[in-house]
Amino acid sequence: MKTDIEIAQEAKMEPIKDVAAKLSINEDELEFYGKYKAKLGDELWERIKDRPNGKLVLVTAINPTPAGEGKTTITVGLGQALNYIGKKAVIALREPSLGPCFGIKGGAAGGGYAQVVPMEDLNLHFTGDFHAITSANNLLAAMLDNHIHQGNTLGIDPKQVVWKRCVDMNDRALRNIVVGLGSKMDGVVREDHFVISVASEIMAILCLAEDMQDLKVRLGKIIVAYNYKGEPVTAADLKAVGAMAALLKDAIKPNMIQTLEHTPAIVHGGPFANIAHGCNSVRATRMALKMADIVVTEAGFGADLGAEKFFDIKCRMSGLKPDAVVLVATVRALKYNGGVAKADLGQENVEALKKGIVNLEKHIENLHKYHVPVIVTLNAFVSDTPAELEFVQKFCEEKGASFALARVWEDGGRGGEALARKVVDTLETKESHFTPLYPDDLSLREKIETVAREIYGAAAVTYSPAAAKALDRIESMGFSNMPVCMAKTQYSLSDNANLLGRPEGFTVNIREVYVSAGAGFVVAITGAIMTMPGLPKVPAAEGIDVDESGRITGLF
Ligand code: ADP
Ligand code: MG
Repeated sequence: MKTDIEIAQEAKMEPIKDVAAKLSINEDELEFYGKYKAKLGDELWERIKDRPNGKLVLVTAINPTPAGEGKTTITVGLGQALNYIGKKAVIALREPSLGPCFGIKGGAAGGGYAQVVPMEDLNLHFTGDFHAITSANNLLAAMLDNHIHQGNTLGIDPKQVVWKRCVDMNDRALRNIVVGLGSKMDGVVREDHFVISVASEIMAILCLAEDMQDLKVRLGKIIVAYNYKGEPVTAADLKAVGAMAALLKDAIKPNMIQTLEHTPAIVHGGPFANIAHGCNSVRATRMALKMADIVVTEAGFGADLGAEKFFDIKCRMSGLKPDAVVLVATVRALKYNGGVAKADLGQENVEALKKGIVNLEKHIENLHKYHVPVIVTLNAFVSDTPAELEFVQKFCEEKGASFALARVWEDGGRGGEALARKVVDTLETKESHFTPLYPDDLSLREKIETVAREIYGAAAVTYSPAAAKALDRIESMGFSNMPVCMAKTQYSLSDNANLLGRPEGFTVNIREVYVSAGAGFVVAITGAIMTMPGLPKVPAAEGIDVDESGRITGLF
């Protein structure tokens, strides 16, 4: 069997101007990054912005195994399949982070015959957006420490600096550091921290900003520290906004590439879904909706994380309204949720499926709480047996859930025909009455508790003393109207990665809370989740190489 990268490298790509031409984009509306990648310029938006929107389909999933369950694969495959049956469909994805590329999970270009290309470019530096975000983040950090060093006229309390440096790498050694060591000229000594770039507030801001104007307003509101009186100090106070925005000038423009079947794919922004809000940029989704009849987009990890935040943060803030949700399940992940060890997932085990299927059941129930039609799809693996496939299909039928088997990994668009037809049928016959889970005017604690009870299935929520204090302060600062951005393990519906299936009676522990005033949400960190991941014992990086001709191997 060929690897993802081998399939991707065999693909004959079309010049990106030809892919764009399918959506009637003119060549002079593209900013080329080589032959196969382009940014979509502001001229294009100006020309198309008053058109009616196409339909918006969200792809989400049950709780995954550590390898990922194929949401990107299904998103890409569904986009291909919709085109295969003659629909004008565009894909809207997130850009991958280097962290997982070199860690356990690998890249995020899809898999098998449902991939976007050039996959090496996308998975590595792409068009430099993440470098720009990292630079803007670290410029703010540098200006902050310099301000303290140069006399600190704003009275910043070095013990209350909340802005963290960032790098797009899994680097646990940078979680807790000390900066400013050395002589008098080397700055003020203080404890500092790094987050991975995809958890940075700048990433969230880039993804939620309407345009350059809005980007600047949001950057200005970032709270970097508190002064000795306990009042917030912002990026605007540090006069950092203009220079940060200048660094992000190109990064805010959506990128276009193509699938293996030359379907246009807009790939832009990439916050993680466990420690950030997990959705591609609002601008990219908006642009796609003006150019296609159907837009297929993905939110990260399981529906308890990515979909919840897609609905409660991205859609709430932008006014976007999803028309249908595709919920991806795999026999493997259902068995994993039924207690089967990772190494044994390839063996038939209908008993474990019966135990694990409650995870799928809970996610179906959860998605109905948003009043959007749901289609369940089983992402078929070659190791799945007929008995296993039949069990899942029967379960969905008995539950009255719309169901389709997808073989896009093996067969590309053709393998997704059944799913594409189900999606089209749903869009034509079922109306979406999308509503977020909770209203703006609940207190922050009530919002956290609503998500924990309704989506996770928790019995109770507890707060660490620091989290309780932070919540009171944030409420008193006037931010109680914001939605909450939950940071939680992706492996369980609970905040404990070991509670698989459909856990009940558990307590969610809120460890830390902070406000991302520029992004416009309050982050609540649960359990043991980290905003800077680490590498595993044998990182994927050990298997990656490049030859004399520049051909990369080992990326997946
Ligand atoms: P997600 O977006 O849910 O994290 P991906 O689509 O990135 O998952 O897929 C994760 C990995 O699983 C990829 O390496 C992909 O090639 C592989 N994969 C996905 N679907 C299948 C399948 N049906 N059969 C075999 N491998 C698959
Ligand atoms: Mg993905």
